[in-house]
Amino acid sequence: MQQAINVAKFGGTSVANYDVIKNCASIVINNQNTKVVVVSAAAGITNHLVSLANTALTSEQITEVVEKIRIIEFKILNELKQPNEVDDKLFALLDELDALARHEELNFRDDLKDDLMSMGERMSSLLVAAILREMGCAAINFDARKVMRTDSTFTEAVPNVRAIRDLSEQLLAPEIKDSVVVTQGFVGADDDGRTTTLGRGGSDFTAALLAEALNASTCEIWTDVIGVYTTDPRITDNARPLPELSFEEAAEMATFGAKVLHPATMEPALRQNINVFVGSSKEPEKGGTWIRRNCDYEPSFRAITRRREQVLVTVKTPKMMYAQGFLERVFKIIAKHKLSVDLVTTSEIAVSFTLDNPANSISERINKETLTELSTICEVSVERHLDVVTVVGNNMHSAAGVSSKVFAAISDFNLRMICFGANVHNLSFVVSEKASGDIVKVLHKTLFEE
Ligand code: ASP
Ligand code: MG
Repeated sequence: MQQAINVAKFGGTSVANYDVIKNCASIVINNQNTKVVVVSAAAGITNHLVSLANTALTSEQITEVVEKIRIIEFKILNELKQPNEVDDKLFALLDELDALARHEELNFRDDLKDDLMSMGERMSSLLVAAILREMGCAAINFDARKVMRTDSTFTEAVPNVRAIRDLSEQLLAPEIKDSVVVTQGFVGADDDGRTTTLGRGGSDFTAALLAEALNASTCEIWTDVIGVYTTDPRITDNARPLPELSFEEAAEMATFGAKVLHPATMEPALRQNINVFVGSSKEPEKGGTWIRRNCDYEPSFRAITRRREQVLVTVKTPKMMYAQGFLERVFKIIAKHKLSVDLVTTSEIAVSFTLDNPANSISERINKETLTELSTICEVSVERHLDVVTVVGNNMHSAAGVSSKVFAAISDFNLRMICFGANVHNLSFVVSEKASGDIVKVLHKTLFEE
């Protein structure tokens, strides 16, 4: 029988410095099945790169930001037993980074932004592979762009699953026979070989895609928390880690704000039935959450998530009553500007929908052009300072008392919009950002503490 393959992904905080990378290396070495290691950029690096890409900075300001990046990378390099094994390569990447940061067209060209954005992962994979070798593991650094084929939507590229499978069989499968392959999360390349990225947090997605391509049986996501929690532990101390979750629940949680997983991660896992583990690289002995197709227990309420920085757009036309195709025209404009809509409600003459507007996205999501174009066909209003709170669970449509319990708990709060999900796994509310924390606390108390 063929050996079971595990793909292990380590997030930014897990590769932030030499000591924590050593924890990761031990985790890799302790599991014979781990053949592919996917790494994020060291914590903080991608945010620095985003600020270089998106803000018009003076030459001195660029120097300052690049210096901050250099310091983080050099600290790791200088602790290596044999830094000269990789220092030339690291210096070359930093030079390339510096040149891109000073490119005149950087702020206007998404292809250049992605080149720059890839640097964090490229540096950390170099260093993580070196630390694995230092600890006696036959590790090689592998350029993800050889196999992670995507379309050319720079900053939010869409992977080509078929091509990734074929290329991985040709180029990656032979390498994992004798080595542990360390590669970059988040980074890909289009058909012309130009560097692309999968969107913020995309390294988890890379890990799941490579696990799918290699027919792996497991995919581990190592981060700084011991699994997925009933809600964000920063909101309430009573949040507790979940031993298991279904693919659908995990996908729903990730979409609606659980930061531990990139929302698309579950797609490959679901297609290929790959069990996904989430745990802490600092405390691997504490266990974590297993995400699988079938759980032993399918409760009505599994978790509560909060998604911040939401924008609620309402488009209104008195003509909607008569005009067929209004919705189509609205959504065509939204699709053209590549915005993704999360929640929608409609009435006779208006449609409201939420859009994500995170401060750290590589490209501004909601932009003036979209609104200007929408206002040519209808009245547009925009509300900000909103969060979406979502209760995730099972059979929420049919289980008796589900909604009454939820609504009774939060009857004192103003709910701007309510969406009973189009699937059976979620019930969402759009609420003011000031109230969202309290709403999560009250819901958590009622649904999980009583
Ligand atoms: N480094 C990228 C980010 O910070 C990708 C990732 O860590 O998953 O968004
Ligand atoms: Mg992440």
